[in-house]
Amino acid sequence: MQQWLEEIAASARQRLDEGRVADYIPALAQRNPNRFGIAVCTTSGETYAAGDAREPFSIQSIAKVLLLTLALRTHGEALWQRVGLNPSGMPFNSLAQLEAERGKPRNPFINAGAIAVTDRLVSAFATPDKHLQDVARRLAGNASILIDDEVLESEWQHRSRNAAMAYLMKAFGNLDNDVDAVLRCYFSSCALAMSCVDLAVALNFLAAEGEARAIGQRFVSPGLARRVNAIMTTCGMYDAAGDFAYRVGLPAKSGVGGGIVAVVPGRMTVCVWAPALDDSGNSVAAQHALELFAEQLDARLSTA
Ligand code: GLU
Repeated sequence: MQQWLEEIAASARQRLDEGRVADYIPALAQRNPNRFGIAVCTTSGETYAAGDAREPFSIQSIAKVLLLTLALRTHGEALWQRVGLNPSGMPFNSLAQLEAERGKPRNPFINAGAIAVTDRLVSAFATPDKHLQDVARRLAGNASILIDDEVLESEWQHRSRNAAMAYLMKAFGNLDNDVDAVLRCYFSSCALAMSCVDLAVALNFLAAEGEARAIGQRFVSPGLARRVNAIMTTCGMYDAAGDFAYRVGLPAKSGVGGGIVAVVPGRMTVCVWAPALDDSGNSVAAQHALELFAEQLDARLSTA
């Protein structure tokens, strides 16, 4: 496995100059595009890493997986009264459908949907941002995971579009809490800084029928893990979810920090990070790496 990851890293590094680093907030626009990391965590607990896999980066939309999982734990199926379950086919920060669909976002992995999900967590926890950070730390087995204050403040300063979505939902009665409190918590989750290794370990419960590797106990039911994987498959890669499903065929969630986490159910999680993005907001080199990974998975593991 180790040698295979090194080979994937060597191939993916050839593509680091394709695409562009996210520039919707200044704190991310300054990031060095010349980074590549890949980490695997198997359901039996082995971890493998290559390249810059231990360097923390801004997890951005990957946080939406944690937000959704926690909200399904606290609110169960009632969550679907607030947010839909279908791909949007629109950019992640689009406002158009929200107006047409009376403030109910299409799915939990577009910004509006994640903000509606965050509102549920703000109702459920006294300090939801702290709670999220604690959960990330426990699941990753890494007590040094931090919220990057520079990214958080940058998101806050440039919040107009996300604030517009939140106020529109509030106007339609789909947000119970104070808009600023919900946005602050949402941005805190996006600003979590985690490495490929952290994310592969933390989200391993999705590959392991809900068992969390680092804490050695069940985090969610097998059914909940399966449902989160299903939503990752249909909605996890922005408006390119269909292309990615065709090319890679694994449940995955990407973020504009350049990270992508993919799940091989029953076997492993893999997290890849390379900051430069394509027009849909997905890392070019990370997608390339995952395509190589998925293509060779069975052949490589049978000879490993
Ligand atoms: N914090 C970002 C936003 O709300 C998340 C973007 C992303 O990774 O999709 O705009």
